[in-house]
Amino acid sequence: MARERILLIEDEPDIAEVLEYNLEKEGFDVEVAHRGDSGLESLRRQAPDLILLDLMLPGVDGLELTRLLKRDAATSRIPIVMLTARGEEVDRIVGLELGADDYISKPFSPREVVLRVKAVLRRLQPEEVPSDKLEIGGIQLDVAAHQLRVRGKEVALTATELRLLRLLMERAGRVQTRGTLLSDVWGYAEDIDSRTVDTHIRRLRRKLGPEADRVETVIGVGYRLRP
Ligand code: CA
Repeated sequence: MARERILLIEDEPDIAEVLEYNLEKEGFDVEVAHRGDSGLESLRRQAPDLILLDLMLPGVDGLELTRLLKRDAATSRIPIVMLTARGEEVDRIVGLELGADDYISKPFSPREVVLRVKAVLRRLQPEEVPSDKLEIGGIQLDVAAHQLRVRGKEVALTATELRLLRLLMERAGRVQTRGTLLSDVWGYAEDIDSRTVDTHIRRLRRKLGPEADRVETVIGVGYRLRP
């Protein structure tokens, strides 16, 4: 299997160096960009399997970069893990809203970053059952084709949104706690910020449009898809 490519966009040389070292040690092929615009050039030359993205960057900042990538069909499915500093909570939420898959707060340990990167890549691997088609009400999800139709109209989904919707559909009628969703959709069971789940649910509802109210909030517990 080819080595997976990580594009690390980080302007602080010390952080970039320690992450590059640790990721390479784990067998990843790492390319480092120290500016947002050079990162953009690099990934347009060759798409990486994942982008580790600092938010405060010279050139193009992390949020703007996320916006550009998610808007472009050629790059919208590359997973993005944001590296955020204390005091950037608002940016973090905006980043997730824009379609970033995950975030890691500074200061972080290199080991945490490696685990997080692996978890994101693992959950994006092709599913074993290649022809899953799910249908509930006006929601039709073709997992293999990565295609969602809401009342006949095609709607674009990120890889994480697809996993989340799929899980809710497969478990329709049953309440899924935030913890369950974090471990089954995001692939790790650590106690991380459950706002990640809430943000993705909000985005999913928006995409489900007229079918949005099928995703019910169970206050204090989690979410349930109404069959
Ligand atoms: Ca920075």
